[in-house]
Amino acid sequence: MSLILAVSPHLDDAALSASGQLRGFVSRGDTVEVVTLFAGVPQPPYSAPAVFMHELWGLTEDPVERRRAEDRCAHRQLGTRVEHADFLDELYRRAPDGDWLVRDDWKRAEDTGGDEQELRAALTAHVYGLLTSRRPDLVVTCAAVGRHVDHRRTRDAVLAAAPVAGVPVRFWEDLPYAEWTSRFPPLPQWAAVGPSAVEPVDDQAWEIKLSAVQCYASQHRMLWPEDGQDWRAVMDAHAKSVGREYGDGRHDRRGERFWDVLVDPSRLAANAAPPHGFEADLYDPILRPSLRRS
Ligand SMILES: [Zn+2]
Repeated sequence: MSLILAVSPHLDDAALSASGQLRGFVSRGDTVEVVTLFAGVPQPPYSAPAVFMHELWGLTEDPVERRRAEDRCAHRQLGTRVEHADFLDELYRRAPDGDWLVRDDWKRAEDTGGDEQELRAALTAHVYGLLTSRRPDLVVTCAAVGRHVDHRRTRDAVLAAAPVAGVPVRFWEDLPYAEWTSRFPPLPQWAAVGPSAVEPVDDQAWEIKLSAVQCYASQHRMLWPEDGQDWRAVMDAHAKSVGREYGDGRHDRRGERFWDVLVDPSRLAANAAPPHGFEADLYDPILRPSLRRS
């Protein structure tokens, strides 16, 4: 029996992207703990983009407490343990100049070079504390496909902490972003990923995954914004397209995509900090060859 730690950026990411496999771990008797980093409860006043999102979500009162409740609902379906850290979502963070990180015109402070060094150090320390106190056999987190800044911060914190704590890392493919892009930010010099691995999701696990995703009802309009869009069909189509790569000839298998992270210890010692700066990877057309999809 193993302990698996999943580190999720937001309150729906682990369920959207990896809950088929997380449920698979639970089914075989492993313990799965899902820690969401950017689950901090913000205090008003809120920025205009935050107010807009609260209205879109239908959560104008206590939005994050109510999203935490949705998350507890989802993890009850999955049989996974749940923990919420107190880091604030980018919507609620400030840039060094005191303005919102996501400004009222929706431009992000990264455009002007903010790199949130203190936040990154605090996230790494938090993840390192989780890894050394819980001692999981594996830590699973996002690859940051789609390059949402909170996803990148999460991934890089896990990447910085896990090799030092001696815990192997696996990335999940971020959904729904992976439905339209395969790009994710470059990795530190000392880390690479191998070819993607597709984990099959059987019918029972798939139904449980859908019931978990159903719990995040406030997020559905944001995640699947087109009128009349059937989110179950969208998720099903992606899972089947990934499952076709499974290679057993059964074309209706569903799957989730992961990458195991390879660490070069000699380079890690020389350069322990993940790279930062947001501009370079915005225009990195190919990433490194090892990061391409198999
Ligand atoms: Zn997210």
